[in-house]
Amino acid sequence: MVYNFAVIGAGISGASVAYELAEAGSVVLLEAESMPGYHSTGRSAALYTPNFGSAEVCAINKASESFFLNPPEAFCEVPLLSPRGALTVSTTDEDYSGLTDLLKLSSHDSPIYEITKAEALKLAPVIRPEKISAAVFEPGVMDIDVASLHQGYLRAFKQRGGKLLLKHRIEDLKFVDGVWHLNTGQQCYKARKVINAAGAWADIVGALAQAKPIGLVPKRRTAIIIDVPEGLDLSAMPLVDFIGGAYMKPDAGKLMVSPGDETPVKPQDIQPDDLEVAKLVDWLERSTLINVDRLAHSWAGLRSFVTDGNPVVKYDNDVQDFFWLAGQGGYGIMMAPTLAKTAARMLLQVD
Ligand SMILES: Cc1cc2nc3c(=O)[nH]c(=O)nc-3n(C[C@H](O)[C@H](O)[C@H](O)COP(=O)(O)OP(=O)(O)OC[C@H]3O[C@@H](n4cnc5c(N)ncnc54)[C@H](O)[C@@H]3O)c2cc1C
Repeated sequence: MVYNFAVIGAGISGASVAYELAEAGSVVLLEAESMPGYHSTGRSAALYTPNFGSAEVCAINKASESFFLNPPEAFCEVPLLSPRGALTVSTTDEDYSGLTDLLKLSSHDSPIYEITKAEALKLAPVIRPEKISAAVFEPGVMDIDVASLHQGYLRAFKQRGGKLLLKHRIEDLKFVDGVWHLNTGQQCYKARKVINAAGAWADIVGALAQAKPIGLVPKRRTAIIIDVPEGLDLSAMPLVDFIGGAYMKPDAGKLMVSPGDETPVKPQDIQPDDLEVAKLVDWLERSTLINVDRLAHSWAGLRSFVTDGNPVVKYDNDVQDFFWLAGQGGYGIMMAPTLAKTAARMLLQVD
């Protein structure tokens, strides 16, 4: 069989575009791992932050909101977004410019406004008072139910007749007489068009197709989960982001904390760095009233960027019928609904 489309990578990017394409054609979705969200998609902070990233990224984020609020019928059983809010804090007078930059992004639809130190402490009573010199609040930041979103796309993709193949790492790509041959080493799949949604591995997959690299740089980001001190209910606390420091948010009765690191690395099954975690715990104990007795969990994930920080959604300039859906950086979950629709329109040649 020759599929209309073969999508490489079943993270959120591949799953969402495969779903959109399956409405109009035959699609095979090929994933190297045994779990489709094993890499970046399963390792995110699960936030919808409309005012985050370049102007283009912010516009894409905002365009996704309607899908999150009104997904297709029977797509998922729970709301995809739930209110969180974001409190951004400066500790020193020098950090204040970070808050003014943020305030400039405020708009009618996604307001950001300054609040008093007392109001900030009421929202996040775990912060040491001396660590707040000024604060702003953004009510439009939400938690995304990433598992429901990702599973919703995969389920609906299969309902539309799409084929998901796990443990299928593409090792070789050849274009013969207008048809792509995708080889796993054991099996060969054929398709008219290939969509490269391989996350941090997109340049490696591009090289298999003889495409020039887009210059993707995967960057490690570390996160830990810790227990909340007994008697303290932080479930309604907003995301707390320190200018020039780390961020934290409540996560299923515990607290997720990340140093916001951006260390360039090669594509890999990235693991947390012990020194980064130790420095983070030290920062947390100096900045909040929390003593970390035990780490419930720690992990790292890859955020992959090209130079301008914007996603790459386009046909390759030189290689026929080879399409890039890559460079989603730190925004790939929230951008997914818009990027998938945009990519599908281009691939199906709909205006
Ligand atoms: C700590 C952290 C926090 C983040 N927080 C947020 C957030 O709050 N909000 C947000 O929107 N985004 C966030 N992100 C970014 C987001 O997670 C990513 O942008 C998004 O998951 C990228 O999805 P993807 O499908 O492109 O990549 P991936 O999920 O990595 O999927 C790519 C898939 O391709 C597969 N693959 C690779 N090579 C091959 C091959 N040769 N053959 C077959 N399959 C292959 C891989 O196995 C992988 O499953 C965060 C990321 C991290 C690490």
